[in-house]
Amino acid sequence: MTEKLFERDSNLKICEATVVECEPAPQGYAVVLDRTVLFPEGGGQLSDTGTINGALVKHVRETKEKIIHECVAEFPVGSRVTVQVNWTDRLDHMQQHCGEHILSYAFWKLFGANNVGFHMNERMVTIDLDKEVTLEEAFQAEDFANRQVWEDLPVTVSYLPHTELADLPMRKKNEKLTGILRVVAVRDGDVCTCCGTHPTSTGVVGLIKITKIEKHKGGTRVEFLCGRWALEDARKKMRYIQDAGNMLSTKEERVCESIGRLEGEIAELKEKLRAAVAQLQASEIQKLLAEAPVNAAGCQVLAAIKDEYEPKSAKTLFGKLSDTPNALVAVIYRNGERVNYMFGLGPGAAGDCKAIIARANEIFGGKGGGKKESAQGGAPYAADWKEKAEKLVAVMKET
Ligand SMILES: [Zn+2]
Repeated sequence: MTEKLFERDSNLKICEATVVECEPAPQGYAVVLDRTVLFPEGGGQLSDTGTINGALVKHVRETKEKIIHECVAEFPVGSRVTVQVNWTDRLDHMQQHCGEHILSYAFWKLFGANNVGFHMNERMVTIDLDKEVTLEEAFQAEDFANRQVWEDLPVTVSYLPHTELADLPMRKKNEKLTGILRVVAVRDGDVCTCCGTHPTSTGVVGLIKITKIEKHKGGTRVEFLCGRWALEDARKKMRYIQDAGNMLSTKEERVCESIGRLEGEIAELKEKLRAAVAQLQASEIQKLLAEAPVNAAGCQVLAAIKDEYEPKSAKTLFGKLSDTPNALVAVIYRNGERVNYMFGLGPGAAGDCKAIIARANEIFGGKGGGKKESAQGGAPYAADWKEKAEKLVAVMKET
């Protein structure tokens, strides 16, 4: 059984220990010591990282009997080693973990909402509440929780038999737990059983900041960050908003207003563009109709070859041309790195689009297919695509 020094003193950063076991493991060695300051992952708190004699311990886990340090180095059994915790990580984890106690208590105390799920990974912490809460209510809980942080209330750990828990104002009741239990209590605040590491007073948490709330399984998922992680998140968001303000040449508090105005301007321009394209297409259709040759089958060949054309505009043009009676229609256009082609028959027209697209695939080195009445396909862009398009139109004229 490894002695858990972190349970007695969460501020202990270093200790001497004796190596009990050391076995090869997938990414190094699984090292068991007689005592450790490194907290193993559990109870919603992430594993500590640290070192044994300066060699990196990447992860620490606990089995029923022992604590296993996943270390990059091998140590002789029986040797004395120095174990040190990565304090930056530990403090980050304690701030999030203790902040979770305080915030969960606030939701429970103010709104009767129970924490029924907790997730923590690098830079994201969430709790799931069994009740829906509004953003305003979340802010009230956030205010309450931060007042408890700023009052720097003592956080105490005691070991009590389960029979004594009934007399305590526990936030969570768990009748399944028996024997001697570890009870963590914030003065005038949260009381619950917990195996994690906690600071000795709430002030260490620094700040509790809710970053998002959303509906989740009939309740609410609350995302939040505490301490240094909250500070870094606020800094990151400050940069975003400053950059957005600079890009829009506006004050930060007017960013949303500016984006709204830009959206309006874009919608207006899109409408103008749509009208201009429709007008242009109408005159193009007139020109094509006036100049259209008649092929051997007696169809008017309406072929539009367009450079840098949008698929949406191409579809509209194709639809309009295909309304022309007795017309054999082709729209061939370049869109970035692609050349696309569409073929169709107007009402009463004789022809076979399947045969035309087979020829197009051959000429352009592309892919596509369809029916006798209409077909479409495309090929990668090549510099001579227009000559190829003209070649294909010539074939259509001779059909
Ligand atoms: Zn805890």
